[in-house]
Amino acid sequence: MRIWTAQFGYDGQDRVDITRGSAAGVRAFAPSWKLVSGVKDGSLSWGRYTELYLEEMRVSWIDQRKWWARLLRMPSVTLVCYCKFTPEHQCHRFLLADILVQIQQRYGVPVERMGERP
Ligand SMILES: [Zn+2]
Repeated sequence: MRIWTAQFGYDGQDRVDITRGSAAGVRAFAPSWKLVSGVKDGSLSWGRYTELYLEEMRVSWIDQRKWWARLLRMPSVTLVCYCKFTPEHQCHRFLLADILVQIQQRYGVPVERMGERP
């Protein structure tokens, strides 16, 4: 599995919209509105956001298994969000990419982190 990240405008076949805000976003991988608004109003630090997002994904792994299975079967995936790319990688698409790498490695599936699409 090859894992890319990109900004929202990317429209390749392996695009997976993981935003909360767009109608097509896959909710299983989107942060809750609580997290989204916490980042917007500055009440959540990036460290705390990361912790809470990982917690939400642990719940999602149990409750939304069908979506995880579908995602993990893709030979190539590009996780997209509205956030601009920053060197600090402060967007949940980078957190989810890390999670996918860990899961695939646990199951012995070859996985490659490809980085941000131009
Ligand atoms: Zn984002």
